[in-house]
Amino acid sequence: MAHWFDLGDVAVVSLIEDDRLLIEPGEFFPGLEPDLADWYAREPWFDRAAEKLVFVIQSFLVCSADEVLVVDACVGAGKDRQRPEFDQLPDRWRQQFLATGLREADVDAVVFTHLHTDHVGAATAQREPVFPHAPHFVVEQEFRYWSSEAGGAAMRRTGDYLADSVLPIEQAGQLRFVAPDAVVGRHAELVPAAGHTPGNVCVRVRGSAGTVLLAGDTMHHGVQIRHPELSTRYCVEPGAAARVRGALLDEVAGSGAVFVPTHFPVPSAGRVRRGQAGYDFEFAADLVRTGQFRYREWLGSLVTLGRRGSAPVAARSQWADRG
Ligand SMILES: [Zn+2]
Repeated sequence: MAHWFDLGDVAVVSLIEDDRLLIEPGEFFPGLEPDLADWYAREPWFDRAAEKLVFVIQSFLVCSADEVLVVDACVGAGKDRQRPEFDQLPDRWRQQFLATGLREADVDAVVFTHLHTDHVGAATAQREPVFPHAPHFVVEQEFRYWSSEAGGAAMRRTGDYLADSVLPIEQAGQLRFVAPDAVVGRHAELVPAAGHTPGNVCVRVRGSAGTVLLAGDTMHHGVQIRHPELSTRYCVEPGAAARVRGALLDEVAGSGAVFVPTHFPVPSAGRVRRGQAGYDFEFAADLVRTGQFRYREWLGSLVTLGRRGSAPVAARSQWADRG
């Protein structure tokens, strides 16, 4: 079931490539033996029959009358990848994108929280950029790391996704290096979160009726809410990743802010509270709207609801001249 988050004059739309990727706890968190009495070891976080952690592979559209952003781009279709669940995928991502009524030329910018294989793929097809007018924002340190020998070594595990999914964007002149706290849209700014990878960031999205922090891979699974010190096998700097995670949890628990870690089970968005046995997580049902998001209908509803005074379609015509 499709869903999106209602922030008033901004909609954050979840595009899900895989809603149930199962992974052995020990593959992701070496040595982890889940505490079966705890909430993170039950549905929707944990598949008891398979004894595996549940992950979602997704990215987000940030839609307003002003602009459309794509935040991360999943694995993508038709890519050669080592992990069987990622290899030569059908075009699920694009089908969901098109179902919103948007077309590739409507996308004003793409934001990469980091350059792992499950966050970049759908931005290219056949080694060509998919979004013709969009700058693709990434922190320079992130790109430099994956282009280095150390980063290249990690790609033997995944398949060389840099070559087929990131370098074509650079070669087309569409990759833009930004600071880790850059403003990337009328309603979106980056939040530094280096650790999982050297240039990892979160994306804060502000609307008239709410704010969410798209937390990317700063956190992967509910077990890390209980145990913030637990970094994954794939964290480049595990110590820094743990510190960033601890600070993030402290912040969202204190402020009641909604955060959306990419790989948390649907609907992924939630709030953290301090409980007796550590932090607890509660899904933010108040922001979630189920059903297919359709961009033009939603723009029309903004006018009807008085959230926006002028005809929103006028904003669209400026876009075609850009890029
Ligand atoms: Zn990821």
